Amino acid sequence: MPETTWIIDETTGILTVEGLPQSSLAAMTNEWLPPSVAVNCARPLASSSIQALPILPATTEASLRVHRIYHHSVVEGPGRRSVVQMSGCEKKCIGCYVPETHEMNGGVRLSTADIAARLLAEEGAPRDGITILGGEPFLQPTGLLALMTLLKAQGQHLTLYSGFTLEELQQRANAHIPNILALTDILIDGPFVKELTENAGEWRGSTNQRILHHPVQYLSPINRIA
Ligand code: SF4
Repeated sequence: MPETTWIIDETTGILTVEGLPQSSLAAMTNEWLPPSVAVNCARPLASSSIQALPILPATTEASLRVHRIYHHSVVEGPGRRSVVQMSGCEKKCIGCYVPETHEMNGGVRLSTADIAARLLAEEGAPRDGITILGGEPFLQPTGLLALMTLLKAQGQHLTLYSGFTLEELQQRANAHIPNILALTDILIDGPFVKELTENAGEWRGSTNQRILHHPVQYLSPINRIA
């Protein structure tokens, strides 16, 4: 019997069910619940306070190309979260739910200070943390580290998604990656595999993806920060 998770958002009253086959849920909703809408991580509901992002002139500040910012997510990490979705991904996983995030020059470029302010806005409260996903966040490591540093200074719990496995991240020759992982409370790693979606479990799109708490602890000593 697959495990199911039922999440009620106390602020909005929205019920989210994870792990139940859609056919079973459809039968149930016909009887005693209103019609349901399918959600996945990185594909928010229209009720998620999705922000309209401005097109800004080039900036010399630390910045990131962003596809979307939204609030009230209960399927992308523990609790109720505000989410920033980066633009740019080269993995091209078959069946990816968000091909609109793949363009490397897509989205809009925002300063990390602006992104942090939007994520911490009052409309996202109450909030248990921030989730950063993509696209592929690790393709913009300089801005990613700057954003996570700002958010961690505000005491935020940070969940980070990557299509790379932790082992692949270690092999990328980028000095920021160990520091990013040191600021990460939860890393959900690995590509989306369409054949492995059944019973993927909370927060994940497919069963190959791992939930790694404090992933810096798994780095080999040579990659650890001092
Ligand atoms: S890594 Fe994520 S965004 Fe990139 S193709 Fe795979 S599922 Fe889509």
